[in-house]
Amino acid sequence: RLEIRNLTRRFEGRAVVDHVSLSILPGQVTCLLGPSGCGKSTTLRMIAGVENQDAGEILVDGAVICDSHTHVPAEHRRIGLMFQDFALFPHLSVADNVAFGLTGPAAERRARVETMLDRVNLRRFIDAWPHELSGGEQQRVALARALAPGPRIMLMDEPFSGLDNRLRDEIRDTTLAVLKDSGTAVLLVTHEPDEAMRMADDIALMRDGKIVQQGAPYNIYNAPVDREAVAFFSDVN
Ligand code: ATP
Ligand code: MG
Repeated sequence: RLEIRNLTRRFEGRAVVDHVSLSILPGQVTCLLGPSGCGKSTTLRMIAGVENQDAGEILVDGAVICDSHTHVPAEHRRIGLMFQDFALFPHLSVADNVAFGLTGPAAERRARVETMLDRVNLRRFIDAWPHELSGGEQQRVALARALAPGPRIMLMDEPFSGLDNRLRDEIRDTTLAVLKDSGTAVLLVTHEPDEAMRMADDIALMRDGKIVQQGAPYNIYNAPVDREAVAFFSDVN
């Protein structure tokens, strides 16, 4: 379980993330949804530990990992990351890509790699190289890699952009199934209402650094908080 409380980040005096509070539960997908520049990626980067906050706190399973006097470094947070430009390492085989964040005896790591590749239906590519795979296959390997260490929390920043529609639907479905199955708490960033409606258990609508509305997808869709939210949702099909 991930909780953030009053998370705030200022650039040149402007609060680009302004007292954002969220709870993300195991086995649930929470979407941080909002237009370009509203502060989504900055929020995610603070949770990942690669950007400092100016105020607020971040807790994992009730323990503070970041506040005004605690800062657990990024590599010790056990938070999985998947970003659009999180490419595979081209000089490593598929197996070594998936094994990248794993520790322990070689046989155990290999078994884990096989399990993860089974989950994304790519076991047959275990000894292939990234350039031998299609874009969608590479994306599924990246998902297997992100989930291999068994993170309790997964942060995803527009992970499905840059894919064609059919492929995107397929990878969304695979991703959802694998994440739900593993009981991971997921925070998914997107600027597409459509994607949030399909993927989220819970949507947090963000604007100008603030959460302006939060709830189940259909509640938000059926009762947008104001005219701007209505306009934002108007292109959902
Ligand atoms: P998008 O959907 O386009 O990815 P976003 O919601 O992820 O947008 P952020 O990347 O979080 O937006 O940026 C929020 C605001 O903070 C933007 O106005 C951006 O210009 C500003 N910003 C982000 N990083 C910095 C920085 N290092 N220095 C100054 N301003 C920054
Ligand atoms: Mg962004």
